[in-house]
Amino acid sequence: MIERSGKATHQETRAHNSRLVLGTIYDRGPISRAALARSTGLTRTTVSDVVSDLIRDGLTREVGRGPSTGGKAPILLAFADDARHLVGLDLGESVFRGAIVDLRGEICSAIEVAVDDRDGNQALERVFSLVDQLLARADRPILGIGIGTAGLIDTTIGTVLEAVNLDWHGLPLGALLQARTGLPVYVTNDSRATALAEHVFGGQRASNLVVVKVGEGIGAGLILGGRLFQGDGFGAGEIGHTTVRPDGDACRCGRLGCLETVASTRAILGQLASHGISRLPDAVAALEAGDPLVRDVVVAAGRQLGLAVAWLIGVLNVERIVLVGSAAEFGEPWLSAVRETMWASALGLLADGTTLEIGRPHADGVVLGATALLMTRELGLNLTGLPDAGLEGAVAGESESDDLEISA
Ligand SMILES: [Zn+2]
Repeated sequence: MIERSGKATHQETRAHNSRLVLGTIYDRGPISRAALARSTGLTRTTVSDVVSDLIRDGLTREVGRGPSTGGKAPILLAFADDARHLVGLDLGESVFRGAIVDLRGEICSAIEVAVDDRDGNQALERVFSLVDQLLARADRPILGIGIGTAGLIDTTIGTVLEAVNLDWHGLPLGALLQARTGLPVYVTNDSRATALAEHVFGGQRASNLVVVKVGEGIGAGLILGGRLFQGDGFGAGEIGHTTVRPDGDACRCGRLGCLETVASTRAILGQLASHGISRLPDAVAALEAGDPLVRDVVVAAGRQLGLAVAWLIGVLNVERIVLVGSAAEFGEPWLSAVRETMWASALGLLADGTTLEIGRPHADGVVLGATALLMTRELGLNLTGLPDAGLEGAVAGESESDDLEISA
């Protein structure tokens, strides 16, 4: 174990106390200094010192007085939701979406650009241009940039290890943007970002959650014990390129019969092409109009996904599974096919305890998840609502601060 100098320990303790107080104000404000001391276990003096710093930094404001409990009515403190702006990017496979977000996850301004080519350099130029446009719109100090992108991402260094459709291989996206803007940048996979958004802003926080994103590709985001679980090689939840039909169609990853080739929105539309349908809205309209062929294709895709979900249940036994992504637009017929197959294929007792639902349609799910990651890293906020968990565990190799003792 590395010995720390007294000064470093003092600074770290101070930072830890500051995160604790700020997180409590974020979750429970408006709140008085006395209530903060009770809630955090810190002394009144420590709380007052920390609060002075937070007010100076603009992150906390005094917002009037609370009810008196006998003596003088206490001054209440609230989190300043608009103190910083965050830049969030959703680098989807056909559209890049960027937004300016405040510290409570409110979208202040958003921009979308279509990405129709498959040239990695051009895709990167589009990202730079999108960030420049967003930064020009921000009228607060910028906390940083959070990015959710398709592909396999090394979150610790913000490098895209592999994103087939954007033609990015070993691209140091985080470092490039950081050098260009001077801002902190965090990059994660889009399925994981969606899981974070559902977990933090979905209104129903539990320790465990699986979010399966079914769009052009298929991926799952896993929240386990209140933390984003990434796996040893950042690939946890990458179920889309697991073979389900060894003699199946060629996949864009170069192999045959991946889950993505039978259950993604791309696969559904591919099968409907000979039926004269190539766009998702047309397929959804035909399904709603009762077209039997479209229904068969959608149900078959749902069943394939249901098998994969049954495996997830067997491995993880997580009780809440949320389906998101463009395939969710097929609605109830698709959801029923996934659910019935899941029930038929997973161990009965486990499947009975599992709820499967379509997530609220939210165009900004990836953006919000990416900015939630940024907030936890830069402000140390624990956005999970769970006492001993923090999304900061999402970034591997930086868990030392979790072991700090609090001294008041
Ligand atoms: Zn594949």
